[in-house]
Formats: sequence, structure tokens, C-alpha cells
Amino acid sequence: GPGRAWNFSAGPAMLPQAVMEQAQAELLDWQGTGISVLEMGHRTPEFLQIAQQAEADLRHLLDISDDYHVLFLQGGGTGQFGMVPLNLLGDSGKSADYLITGHWSQLAHKEAVRIARARVAADGATTNYCKIPDRADWQLDPDAAYVYYCANETLLGVEFHDTPDTGDVPLVADMTSNLLARPLDVSRFGVVFAGMQKNIGPTGMAVVIVRKDLAGNARSNMPSLEDYALQAKAGSMLNTPPTFTWYMAGLNFRWLLDNGGLEAMAAANRRKADKLYRFIDASSLYYNEIDPACRSDMNVHFRLRDESLQQGVLEAAGAAGLKALAGHRVTGGLRASLYNAMPEAGVDALIDFLGEFERRHG
Ligand code: PMP
Repeated sequence: GPGRAWNFSAGPAMLPQAVMEQAQAELLDWQGTGISVLEMGHRTPEFLQIAQQAEADLRHLLDISDDYHVLFLQGGGTGQFGMVPLNLLGDSGKSADYLITGHWSQLAHKEAVRIARARVAADGATTNYCKIPDRADWQLDPDAAYVYYCANETLLGVEFHDTPDTGDVPLVADMTSNLLARPLDVSRFGVVFAGMQKNIGPTGMAVVIVRKDLAGNARSNMPSLEDYALQAKAGSMLNTPPTFTWYMAGLNFRWLLDNGGLEAMAAANRRKADKLYRFIDASSLYYNEIDPACRSDMNVHFRLRDESLQQGVLEAAGAAGLKALAGHRVTGGLRASLYNAMPEAGVDALIDFLGEFERRHG
């Protein structure tokens, strides 16, 4: 729309135009009630309808069975770094296995160690996290309470394209930056979680999908707000939730259902990322250092062979309406996040811009 930039932010990220317009249209008066969702009690029939519809639509999108709780919790993605060990290790004295494939799995492991026993089963440090360690080199503990991994490392764009096989040990996945990017067989997982502000909605919440038999054994001396079973029983409303965030997530789920669901998203996401990687690989100014087997469809990280052009390219891009292309402060470089809401036209505009910049400076 007029005045809207191509926003490549890794998160909080671009939301679908239609979702933003619907929220705008019903901001002052939600469906003839004369009340905004921002002003609505969370236990009113109106908000309960919004919340329950959001859960039903998410269950439909991901084909989530009744064996799973679907929770909408506060604390974002990082909140789950603590809640997972508190709930799954509980008072058992068992330990958990962590696959370290980048920044976010590293932080999750660090948080787990504060709380309980957590081993490193594999670590991609020797390849600077540009490659997922070979499955044959993972040192898995058969008695672990769970195996934890980050399905898409957002900083460098390192994505698992297959669900790891951990046998009978429950698998826990951080899908903060790739949930809903494609269909997912949820039955393979013990827990799947995602902070919302990338591919789902605004900030303030996480979607947490928990196999029911894994809830209910939380540590005895911990805050009730962090207990999956108590939250499930309370409909994720042990206290006042971020209602507007929940509502926006619901509008996004509805938009996904109305636009071909996750199969359609997967095809579009594959096409967008593939186009950008092919452009980068063919360029003599830009390069991507990630093992092609695990390049992310969501976050495309790249660098300039002449690093002195970094500031210039960001400024010129911003002036051309291509925003938020700076890499994370930890990694530097450039990064284009291509979540569901980024139209292919945005990727085309980025490629045109980068090509033109290379012709002028390459
Ligand atoms: N996990 C991943 C994969 C992320 O990309 C992020 C945020 N960039 C987080 C966890 C942390 O999320 P939050 O900021 O919501 O705590």
C-alpha cells in the first residue's frame, strides 16, 4: 500500500497487509460491540470467542490432535527457554540433551543449565554455526528427558529441513522463526514453541504446543504461571493475557486459512528464498556462507566481499524503501527475513536493488 516499506526485519516483523487493514477497520468497534479489543475484558464472551477461534484455527492449520495442549503464554520465545526444563525435567533429576546450532539454541541451553541438568549433545561451533553437525556425530543420551533444538536459527539463517529422529526421547523444538512457514507433523514432537513476533503476530506471547502426557510433572517450587498443566486448565488465562496480541495472531491464522494454508505458504516461501540465494550465489559482491543443505527459507543472511560498503548499502536500501536489512548485532552482515507476510514482489525489489548497487560499486 502507499507509504508501506518492504520491511525485512527479523522480528518484530512485517504482518500481512490484509491483517493490518482488518485490525485497523475494527479497532474502535469490534463487530458492532462498540468496544475495541484493546478495551475488552479477557473473560468476556467476546474475547473468549476470539481466543477459542484462534486456537481452533491454529489446530486446523497444523492439524494438531487432541493429544496436545495449545497454549498462548507470555514471555516470548525466551520464556520457553526456562519453561521447557521446569516442566519437562520437573523434580525427576533427569537431564536433557541440547543440539547447539547457533545463538538461540546456545541461549536456551544456558538457561536450562541455570535450572537443571542439560548436556550438549552436538555443537556446531567448529564450523562457526554455518552447518548443522552431522547426525552421526550427535552424542545422544538414551535416558535424556528430551532432546532440544532450534529448528531455524534466525541470526545466520540455519534451518533443519527434516525433523531429527530421536527415537522414544521426546523432541522439543524452538520454531520461533519458522512455525507456520510450511506444514508440520506435530505428532513427531513433545513440545513445539514459537515467540509470536516473526511469523505469527505482534510481540508479547508465544504459542506452545505440548503433548498432554508431558505436562503435569512440573517442578514443585516454581511460579504457577510457568506450569503448562495449570495454564492448560485455565485456558492460558491464569492472569490477564496480552489480548490484542492474541487477537492479531487469530487474524493471521484466519488469513493463512483464507490464502491456501501452509502448503501454499511453503511453496511461496521456497520460491522467494531460492530466488534470493540464487542471486547471491551468482553475485561477485555478496555471498552467503551457510551450508546449502541447511539454508533457511525464512532468514537469508549475506555479507559483502568489500565490507566498507556495509553502511552505504544499508543507507541506500533504506532510501529505496527496503528496510531493516542489517544483520543481528552478534553476527553483523546483512539479513533479509522473508516470513509469510513478505510478498514475492518485495524479494524482487530487493534483488533489483542489490543488483543495481553491485553495478555501481562492485
Ligand atoms: N528463538 C528464536 C529462534 C528467535 O529468533 C528468538 C528471537 N529473535 C527467540 C527465540 C527469542 O524470542 P523472544 O525475543 O520473544 O524472547
